[in-house]
Amino acid sequence: MPKDVLTFKRGGVHPEDRKFLSNKKAIEFLPVPKEVVVSLSQHLGAPAKALKAKGDSVVRGEKIGTASSFISAEVHSPVTGTIKAIQKVTLANSVKCDAYVIETDPTAEEVKWDDIDWRTKSKEELLNTIKDLGIVGMGGATFPAHVKFSITKGKVAEYLVINGVECEPYLTSDHRTMLERAEGAIEGVMIIAKVIEAKKIIVGIEKNKMDAVKHLRDVIKAKGYPITVQPLKMKYPQGDEKQLLKATTGREIPSGKLPLDIGAVVSNIGTCFAVYEACTKNKPLMERVVCVTGECIKEPKNIVAPIGTKIGELIDFCGGFKEEPDKIVSGGPMMGFAFYDLDTPIQKGTSGVISIKVENEAPQTSCISCGKCVSACPIGLMPTMMYKNISNGRYDVALNKYSLMDCKECGSCAFVCPAHIPLVHTFKYGKKMARRKK
Ligand code: SF4
Ligand code: SF4
Repeated sequence: MPKDVLTFKRGGVHPEDRKFLSNKKAIEFLPVPKEVVVSLSQHLGAPAKALKAKGDSVVRGEKIGTASSFISAEVHSPVTGTIKAIQKVTLANSVKCDAYVIETDPTAEEVKWDDIDWRTKSKEELLNTIKDLGIVGMGGATFPAHVKFSITKGKVAEYLVINGVECEPYLTSDHRTMLERAEGAIEGVMIIAKVIEAKKIIVGIEKNKMDAVKHLRDVIKAKGYPITVQPLKMKYPQGDEKQLLKATTGREIPSGKLPLDIGAVVSNIGTCFAVYEACTKNKPLMERVVCVTGECIKEPKNIVAPIGTKIGELIDFCGGFKEEPDKIVSGGPMMGFAFYDLDTPIQKGTSGVISIKVENEAPQTSCISCGKCVSACPIGLMPTMMYKNISNGRYDVALNKYSLMDCKECGSCAFVCPAHIPLVHTFKYGKKMARRKK
């Protein structure tokens, strides 16, 4: 039997979770928007290749973009309508890419989905479906799922670890998925387990979501599936693959290696639900649960919205702003991206949008060598030394001596820094410069 509550040992921080704003709000469906902006770069890796042209009609669920390389993914239309334009858009993470502007047809008939028993399908057929229907990691990383679930020759996925941690403050989309879509999500877990031939299956959930722990355990028991639900301590970044695997399996991913190198595959719980819909309904990934929250939102909500919905429409659906936000962030406050244009569309990896006030933002001062950042780093890096070397243009020292590339950009060091130094921003810049120099 697993211990009551587990966690990782090294580093980590305890930001206020602020999940009470939306964690009791049942998932609602956004009415179909008049227009969606669907980018061809919905995933990590190369953008998809456009399959449609301006003026073409599309049906909800139809493929409109196809993977252009090994690490890439298919893209489907979330609405029935007409392609008004293909144009450049700027995403919340500042990436510029091509996107379809699709005008929806309000008279379109609802698309009917299939009813398939996934157990009748081989693991190869299931993997093909996951690829064909554009499933990517929905926790934010957007890594193409078919690539992650293709087990390289000579490797074994002993563990399948499902990420239901949702350790970023504010966000509650995975929490509500586990409460309201558990039946489907658990079928998705078993589909992935079949594809990768996992021997042990663990779902990790932080203990601020004990209702989800109980509910998943009830669903799993009723289905008779061999899945363990493991409560985890509340500690950021518990949801990072490295910390999640350490807590649930006791195994540590070495520097520069992947979960599969230690016999594990990690998948987000929302991705499991998308896998279930793909493999049992033939439904592509073209909508998702987005948590729209923060102190500046009138009525925070968890909303199922088509991919490509403009963020401003989601905010309007929540009654708008109750006060002017200082910051709007796509994703969580620790790792998300601040953006300003409310016409920015949601992507397959958009788990939330938060609108917040930034109270008394203190000015940056010099490093006082307090070492707090070193204690907070879950990877065991020396953020202060990486910062000093990058600031002095010694990118190779930050890279080779202080393992800059192992930095997960989790923000724990910046969170505790009394000098308010933009450490993560510096590390992102340092990585870019180090790559350029190489
Ligand atoms: S926490 Fe900030 S001030 Fe302290 S050592 Fe690290 S960078 Fe310097
Ligand atoms: S951002 Fe990088 S250096 Fe800072 S705590 Fe996270 S992993 Fe460590």
